[in-house]
Amino acid sequence: LTGPGQLFEMDDVPSHGGTVKTWKHAPGDFRALLETSRLHGDKIFLSYEEEHLTYEEHFRRVATLARRLVEEYGIVKGDRVAVAMRNYPEWVIAFSATLAAGAIAVPLNAWWTTQELEYGLSDSGAKVLIADGERAAKLPGLTQSLIVTRGEVPEGARSFEDVLGAVEADVTLPAVELSPDDPATIFYTSGTTGRPKGALGSHRNLGQSPMTVAYSLMRAVLLAGRDPAETTGQRRVTLLTVPLFHVTGCFSVMTTTMFTGGTVVLMYKWDAGRALELIEREKITGMTGVPTNVWQLLSHPDLTKFDVSSLVGLGYGGAPAPPKLLERITTQLPNRAPSNGYGMTETTALAIGNSGADYLAKPDSIGLPVAVVEVKIADPTGDEVPVGEIGELCMRGPNVILGYWNRPDATAETFVNGWLHTGDLARVDDEGFVFIVDRAKDMVIRGGENVYCAEVEAALFEHPAVDDVAVIGIPHDELGEEVGAVVRLTSPVSPEELQAFLRERIAAFKIPVRFWVREGELPRNPGGKILKTLLRKEVLGS
Ligand code: AMP
Repeated sequence: LTGPGQLFEMDDVPSHGGTVKTWKHAPGDFRALLETSRLHGDKIFLSYEEEHLTYEEHFRRVATLARRLVEEYGIVKGDRVAVAMRNYPEWVIAFSATLAAGAIAVPLNAWWTTQELEYGLSDSGAKVLIADGERAAKLPGLTQSLIVTRGEVPEGARSFEDVLGAVEADVTLPAVELSPDDPATIFYTSGTTGRPKGALGSHRNLGQSPMTVAYSLMRAVLLAGRDPAETTGQRRVTLLTVPLFHVTGCFSVMTTTMFTGGTVVLMYKWDAGRALELIEREKITGMTGVPTNVWQLLSHPDLTKFDVSSLVGLGYGGAPAPPKLLERITTQLPNRAPSNGYGMTETTALAIGNSGADYLAKPDSIGLPVAVVEVKIADPTGDEVPVGEIGELCMRGPNVILGYWNRPDATAETFVNGWLHTGDLARVDDEGFVFIVDRAKDMVIRGGENVYCAEVEAALFEHPAVDDVAVIGIPHDELGEEVGAVVRLTSPVSPEELQAFLRERIAAFKIPVRFWVREGELPRNPGGKILKTLLRKEVLGS
């Protein structure tokens, strides 16, 4: 790692039937990343409330748990181990140990209901679940192969601490051979057809992602003319404002930090006031999350009461960032390095980014693709459209996942001739900057959390009084969008009743906050598809 030129050297590797560029010096698999992280020794890796874990302590716990999974739970290469908990240090240890044992880590959404959690476990065929007490309580039927931390341990299950036992200083990783194309992770992401699908990521994908973020950081530093860590004279300390079970938290923050040797300050859950306290106390140098996090921080009445001078890096993505957000940052928190990153579960987080002078000049753009990522704006047949014209954003690169777990049809639909079809409509200007103009997929992004309309509609259809339904996004300053539903009823039912009905079936963030009752038919095109743009205009006036 002697200089940028050498560090960011590229290579070619086969992918999806073609060839893509890769970062030559990125870790080839998670075990390599883990071994490298151990070199950071006594530096603090994870910080949660009053608890601190150094890199060496983390490595020992991970190696010990990996051995226990192999020896006591019979985990072999390719088995799935699910992790369902809030942002606790144990999440990171469980995830890391799973990968170190050669198994596939399946992070489950901690906001999911019992039904959703059960679906994730059965769809992935997880052999072991490592959960916090709250999640374990949602799954009363499950006892064997359940490891519980931070809460009550049901009879038949074991506590995380008990499984870990004594952590020896000279522990080594269990013997297992990994290759970069071996599957490593299954992150659930919804789809147009309703049920969440598992995005199957490889060891190469996760090895490449920290380099991708490091490259973008380097660009941001060059463009801004300052390094967030340098200006404060200390190591990078990143505030994790989003859940670890999403790729932004897991890869853009956690594994990237593991690679670069900084500290991650974990938040049990996002809270702007708590974030301000932590920024001051922990001397946070950067926060990475969704636009809503920064928006809420700027809107907090106590913003000026805290010393937030250490905070330089403000990274966000996962949802559209309005140019007004950048404007607010530059006036309320001047001299910072804001950056907008575009990425998907299917691209192992960051793929396209905008920062520094570029971002100030083009605040409505998501920026340029990271050097190893190729972009194509395609017409419905998959052909590239001329510069400036709108089409579907397609990408190719070493960060693009292998496909969907046990879903050959969905995989074939999304990965066509080597290109990932994002379902986002975009255009590229003559300098290569990408602009997202719309979403072709029927989805609402509420505070960075995706809500697939089809899933909410399917749940509403289960109610006997619901005859027809269309779920739409309602614009919201802070959250970007909120969920709304237009319903046609066969008998009267109150919004509260519908919400209570949904609460049993889908996570709270997916439940519509507003309902409109419609007397007549919902507007449809000749193909039977609901005309949502028209409907949205009718009920919202825009
Ligand atoms: P997920 O797979 O949950 O990360 O969601 C990915 C989707 O979020 C993308 O396909 C986009 O629709 C949206 N998205 C992610 N990052 C951005 C961004 N920076 N600007 C606008 N939309 C974004």
